[in-house]
Amino acid sequence: MARYKDAQCRVCRREGCKLFLKGDRCYTDKCGISRRNYAPGDHGQKKAKLSEYGTQLREKQKTRYYYGVGEVQFRKYFKMASNKKGVTGENLLQILESRLDNVVYRLGYGASRSQARQLVNHGQFVVNGKKVNIPSYLVKVGDVIEVRESKKENATIKANVEANSIRPVPAWLEKDNEKLSGKVIRLASREDIDIPIEEHLIVELYSK
Ligand code: SF4
Repeated sequence: MARYKDAQCRVCRREGCKLFLKGDRCYTDKCGISRRNYAPGDHGQKKAKLSEYGTQLREKQKTRYYYGVGEVQFRKYFKMASNKKGVTGENLLQILESRLDNVVYRLGYGASRSQARQLVNHGQFVVNGKKVNIPSYLVKVGDVIEVRESKKENATIKANVEANSIRPVPAWLEKDNEKLSGKVIRLASREDIDIPIEEHLIVELYSK
């Protein structure tokens, strides 16, 4: 998948909000948004008025960047969300939250979603006792995600666990610090998702 490789803080500045792409740095005053809260580029400080389409597009892009998901995959998730019962926008966010890389990040084993994705790719986790190295794996209620026995001394994971008191584990997950594991006790609801996204704008965009 083509991934955006430009400086991550520029992405946040373009979207005008913190997307937490850089791990611990995002919680310090070195954060690009804290230092320069305007769009990058020569004309970044000019406020451009967005069209309705532009606003919807930006909301969709922002959501994609948050979760590090490509356009094709994102469309696939939207289709899944539309086919599910309930509110499509909320279903979409729930699916995105259920990705294994996001769960690893939420449990605090990855400093950022991209680092969590890399850890999953490198086979550091088991789900219900079986190795899963697919970041897009969607967890289900009852799934137990655990650092592999042979990887429990992994320096990155250990450092993340120690540093992670600033990021609370969401209520839909239960973390076991001793076992380095976490259980999905229910799927994420809208109230659990702490990101400032107006998901109805994405639904409007894709419904055109
Ligand atoms: Fe975004 Fe701030 Fe993190 Fe940079 S440091 S990625 S601007 S949240």
